[in-house]
Amino acid sequence: MVIVMAPEATREDIETIVEVITAAGGSAFVSRGVNRTIIGLVGDVAQFGALNLRSMRGVADVMRVTAPYKLVSRDNHPERSTVRVGGVPIGPGTVTLIAGPCAVETPQQTLEAAEMAKAAGATLLRGGAYKPRTSPYAFQGLGEEGLRILADVRTATGLPIVTEVVDAHDVDLVASYADMLQIGTRNAQNFALLQAVGGVGKPVMLKRGMNATIEEWLMAAEYIAQRGNLDIVLCERGIRTFETATRNTLDVSAVPVAQRLSHLPVIVDPSHSGGRRDLVLPLTRAAIAVGSDGVIIDVHPHPEQALCDGPQALVNGDLRELARVMRQLPPLLGKSAVGDALASA
Ligand code: PEP
Ligand code: MN
Repeated sequence: MVIVMAPEATREDIETIVEVITAAGGSAFVSRGVNRTIIGLVGDVAQFGALNLRSMRGVADVMRVTAPYKLVSRDNHPERSTVRVGGVPIGPGTVTLIAGPCAVETPQQTLEAAEMAKAAGATLLRGGAYKPRTSPYAFQGLGEEGLRILADVRTATGLPIVTEVVDAHDVDLVASYADMLQIGTRNAQNFALLQAVGGVGKPVMLKRGMNATIEEWLMAAEYIAQRGNLDIVLCERGIRTFETATRNTLDVSAVPVAQRLSHLPVIVDPSHSGGRRDLVLPLTRAAIAVGSDGVIIDVHPHPEQALCDGPQALVNGDLRELARVMRQLPPLLGKSAVGDALASA
């Protein structure tokens, strides 16, 4: 941490700060310039935070030099992590395809979507039983009945399941069915929910809040990590901008930026960011090109009948084309493994 003193700060102001820091167990290094004095602090930053340094007399600015998120930061964990979901790795050296319906609607629709996903080389099945819809009149998901359908489809296909939880009270229930819990963009800063999923012992996919900075996203991940769960996969799913041609704007730079700041795997959701079927393939290409550790894709056997997000759902042929791109691009970029299922599909 660095304190920049105001030009008018007095010798006493500086001495007071040094005393306060020393009393808190830290060390203060004073560097006097011609116009300004800078004080470098060494010690427990969390403890300094409680000192309210910014409001002390003579202080112009207080700057952190280390990341405010500790557990998910790469500072103390330089190696990038791999998260395993029901045995399926997500992380460096591989590219994981997660696919499935936006929402679980019927056993038949979920099974057909899962079979499509598996045939294309997906190794994880996505599907929402609890849907956080913008409108209260829109389909809200089947709830526990949807979880039961997902579990049956996992038995039938062998694909581990990723499903969203929207309420802290449902975390234990959803975790009893799911292999990975998804936190959606609308709940990405619901801190009670983040803490609840942090304590339940299942891997978590944390979508980026549509209005969240990368730092806020990583701080949200820190809430989960702080409860002892470091099996977190970050998912860039587009952010709110002034652009209306797409549902959200995929922030491709967030992938390498987040991977540089955090050791956690980072994947991309091209379906929810663009919100349009014709954009899913180009955005997947972009995601893989910037080093995404995987993608999560909406598929539906009959998109025109979908109860949720039909316009972005891929059908069989589109998904196979997308999987072909996911096989061909990574080796060109020096990524060797694309996962056995994808390689042999
Ligand atoms: C979803 O993946 O089903 C979903 C609702 O995504 P998001 O939270 O990114 O909108
Ligand atoms: Mn959706």
